[in-house]
Amino acid sequence: MISSIIFLIVLAITVFLFYRSVSIIIKNIKLGKPLDIKDQQSKRWKTMFLVAIGQSKMIKRPVAGILHIMVYVGFIIVNIEMLEIMTDGIVGTHRVFAFLPFYNVIISFFEIFALAVIVACLTFLFRRNGLRLSRFHKAEMTAWPKLDANIILITEVLLMTALFSMNAADQVLQLKGIEHYSITGPFLISGFLVPLFSGFSVSTLEFIEGFGWWFHIVGVFAFLNYIPYSKHFHVFLVFPNVYFSKLKPATYISNMEAVTTEVKIAMGIIPEDEAGTEEVARFGAKDVRDLTWKNLADAYTCTECGRCTDVCPANITGKKLSPRKIIMDTRDRLEIVGKGVAKEGAEFDDNKALWGDFISPEELWACTTCNACTNECPVNIDHVSIIMELRRYSSLEEASTPATLNAALTNIENNGAPWQYAQDDRMLWAEGMDVPVMADVISAGNKPEYLFWVSSAGAFDDRYKKVVRSFVKILNHLKTDFAVLGIEESDSGDIARRAGNEMLFQMQALMNIEVLNGYEVKKIVCTDPHDFNTLKNEYSDLGGNFEVIHHTQFLQEQIAAGNLEIGGDVFKDSTITYHDPCYLGRGNGEYDAPRDVLAAIPSVKVEMKNNKAFSLCCGAGGGQMFKEAEEGDKEIYMERTEQALKTGCNIVATACPFCMAMISDGLKYKEKEDTVKNYDIAELVAMSMKL
Ligand code: SF4
Ligand code: SF4
Repeated sequence: MISSIIFLIVLAITVFLFYRSVSIIIKNIKLGKPLDIKDQQSKRWKTMFLVAIGQSKMIKRPVAGILHIMVYVGFIIVNIEMLEIMTDGIVGTHRVFAFLPFYNVIISFFEIFALAVIVACLTFLFRRNGLRLSRFHKAEMTAWPKLDANIILITEVLLMTALFSMNAADQVLQLKGIEHYSITGPFLISGFLVPLFSGFSVSTLEFIEGFGWWFHIVGVFAFLNYIPYSKHFHVFLVFPNVYFSKLKPATYISNMEAVTTEVKIAMGIIPEDEAGTEEVARFGAKDVRDLTWKNLADAYTCTECGRCTDVCPANITGKKLSPRKIIMDTRDRLEIVGKGVAKEGAEFDDNKALWGDFISPEELWACTTCNACTNECPVNIDHVSIIMELRRYSSLEEASTPATLNAALTNIENNGAPWQYAQDDRMLWAEGMDVPVMADVISAGNKPEYLFWVSSAGAFDDRYKKVVRSFVKILNHLKTDFAVLGIEESDSGDIARRAGNEMLFQMQALMNIEVLNGYEVKKIVCTDPHDFNTLKNEYSDLGGNFEVIHHTQFLQEQIAAGNLEIGGDVFKDSTITYHDPCYLGRGNGEYDAPRDVLAAIPSVKVEMKNNKAFSLCCGAGGGQMFKEAEEGDKEIYMERTEQALKTGCNIVATACPFCMAMISDGLKYKEKEDTVKNYDIAELVAMSMKL
């Protein structure tokens, strides 16, 4: 009776404390800006089952994945036994379910999982503390985060050990025929401890059994109340967080509605009196309350596993940016703001902010928006959207964009391209070629099937001009019904958006959309994956709905349809490796088209260590192409070039103007440009197609 009362008191305290901690976390998450996520429910459920329950991303690293599943499944299964423990505790019985047939088999089954939990936890402890894996020893993983991980692992080992001691002592007491200990038959794992315990007196055994029972139950209750203060809160949040995760292509960046009206008025698209009365408090995010609730839920869901940081090209090359730290900083700042708001109300202000005080400009501007982090994160956290919101604040409110990047943005604003070239020179790349221009084609009464989007790099970058010329050569060879916008094309705005200058992005986008819609363009083919992503995924938010394909997809289709015959022996002695552009591969899931096209070219193909979804960024995305890299051990493009050279290739195939610039530079710095060539896939096709 007394023990039942004590048990009920402990249970009530546990439930109350847990409820209180969880309420605080929910309140903190609600400090974020509203975000309505009600779309694609069946896809959301599917994603949750695959990623949160099925642990599909964990298993991509099989050893750690299997160990994690052992802990996760083991802990859930073992705690089914809590049903019996709780019932015993409340009612005052002992092994209330012992009457069930095969009771000892069921307990043995739980014991197998308990052993798996111990094995996995000990391995994790060794991995964290003995093996010195770099991701567990980064700057953000000292002090509390390090201790927290160890506390949890040790607690789990102790809880399982208590379970085994309790079961072993119970079996010896049963064998001694002590009343109260119902006969259950032997248990599989704890049975091995029985000989060790059989010499103990009855009172010692009763103490061990009782201590094991109380330790297990109190340990689980304490664990439950510890979790909200630990990274292990992810065991609860992972399910809703994955359910509400981003389903759009990884490289899609959401539209800033607050800017759209202003830009439309400035461009004369809508009259000034259509402006809403609502003042925009702040553009982008300076502090956690400027982020959305989903960003804040992400922060509480982070497991601190460091997989994101492990694949981050900036971090790999020694720069300060660690995507894990971005998320941990967001959570730490939210905890402070949450406490402040709870105490002082919504007016709370400690003169600190996430931007600057927690996350430095150096970290912020080192991101290439490659999405290696989001791809890797086992709980679908979106680091890039937080980085982007902080960049938007930097750009729109603080005007603190890095100088060289700012110069490129000024060029876009003035000339429609990130370089200082005149808009009227946008067709110089096509000199001597037969390239139909949309205005002429339309005025001749025709409507071309495709619009070939040349891009700023295609129009002005000397090396990349050769790529677009090669592609046009193929289009003409295929007698494709196409046209270009010519001097009516302007920069897509991709760089402006990634640099946080949403005003400039929307101006560029709206201007281009007006031209494209004016010509009733339906299908667009792009060679630049950044423009491909922007036109395909982002222009639709501003009224530009087009079917957009990448040139490698176009070439894949043409080869598959038998329209484009490739042969000859131009590359038959060549070894080609392909570098996946982040904005085509990870961003838009296209890994096959470029490889299928290359497969059609007689040559040897080799893959780099990091390929497809695990490809390493070239270092140019997210505006990096137009700024100095942050301080680190080496340039990202050098790391990627070294990976390419390790394959023994003599051709690095690319499918993006930025990748081409970076890899070409890498080959030059490695003094390999004479022996290893960098070609775009369009160039390889143009050189090997049968005319
Ligand atoms: S997007 Fe790429 S560069 Fe940016 S934080 Fe993620 S992994 Fe690092
Ligand atoms: S953000 Fe994701 S990948 Fe990075 S440490 Fe947290 S859980 Fe791991």
